[in-house]
Amino acid sequence: MHNLMVTGGCGFIGSNFIRYLLDESSFTGRVVNVDKLTYAGNPESLSDIKDRHKERYFFEKADICNASIISMIFKKYEIDSVCHFAAESHVDRSIASPEVFIDTNVKGTFNLLECARKSGDGFNLFHHVSTDEVYGTLGKTGCFTEETPYAPNSPYSASKAASDHLVRAYHETYGLPVTISNCSNNYGPFQFPEKLVPLMILNAMERKPLPVYGDGSNIRDWLYVMDHCKAIWLVMEKGHKGRTYNIGGGCEMKNLEIVEKICDTVDLLRKRTKDTGSSRELITFVKDRPGHDFRYAIDSSRVRNELGWSPEESFETGSRKTIEWYFENMTWVDSIRSGEYLKWIETHYNV
Ligand code: NAD
Repeated sequence: MHNLMVTGGCGFIGSNFIRYLLDESSFTGRVVNVDKLTYAGNPESLSDIKDRHKERYFFEKADICNASIISMIFKKYEIDSVCHFAAESHVDRSIASPEVFIDTNVKGTFNLLECARKSGDGFNLFHHVSTDEVYGTLGKTGCFTEETPYAPNSPYSASKAASDHLVRAYHETYGLPVTISNCSNNYGPFQFPEKLVPLMILNAMERKPLPVYGDGSNIRDWLYVMDHCKAIWLVMEKGHKGRTYNIGGGCEMKNLEIVEKICDTVDLLRKRTKDTGSSRELITFVKDRPGHDFRYAIDSSRVRNELGWSPEESFETGSRKTIEWYFENMTWVDSIRSGEYLKWIETHYNV
């Protein structure tokens, strides 16, 4: 892998991945970040990387749905590998406006696969970053394994499931060298504040209501974003072609528990007490999301046993780092809180 295209590199996980790749990993080649810069993409997240890695980091503002532009970028940089993050990624938005999810997540992935296929023998790897939500929902027990049948329940997870199938099919049909990873919920620096963890951190800091769906009993597995990035690079370097790897933190928690833990850490760092008004008082239960999956849990024994990966952060250490990061990076937060963002939060959560 010399000329690696990273799609969606201005988003949450993509920007953390590029940071890891260029600053810490064994990768020595060039990174070409292809991002359309939707509301979720912020080039500010990589401003220091751009300055520090002038010879190795390149940015192309482009839409993966535009096949001819993507093909031109493949040729311009002699792309020999792809790590594909670009997606519409927010479940609530997929319920409100599903079409763009089909365009970007399905058609966009197809365009990239076609470019990779047409690159011929010189093409080394197409890594597809996906979610555990493709497996649907679990009851009180059990875990998703790589063999769990797909049963997506939201337009978002259905579009990701479709893209996973396309990637797999390109391996089976054309012999394209691919790997796929399906990961649980990530949290960490640079996450767009419409998602649960940053929304709660920022609202607690600013003493705004903390909207929690239903009674907060839905369960998710949580993973610190840098642990996910390390797993992705390991799969890219050492994973078997054509194989899927589930990645998870082994850290199942109810949504309400997550919010309470965030409240307590924010209060600790802000030196708030019950007398001065604790953040837990701000928790506000809101109408549940339609088709809200009850529980996700992931069996990541394949990536642990086969590739030797394990997460370094617990939720306690990872969430503290994340909260401290948001405290120290309000300029980044302000740069993405546009009118569009505020409108979505106000109309959607009605708080
Ligand atoms: P994100 O929404 O923060 O970032 C998505 C990025 O893709 C943005 O920079 C956006 O501008 C870009 N993008 C969107 N449409 C595009 C298009 N048509 N062309 C080019 N760029 C486009 O998403 P994220 O949370 O960083 O997730 C990245 C990937 O990881 C997604 O594929 C998602 O399904 C997967 N994933 C996310 C999580 C999670 O917890 N966030 C967990 C598992 C898997």
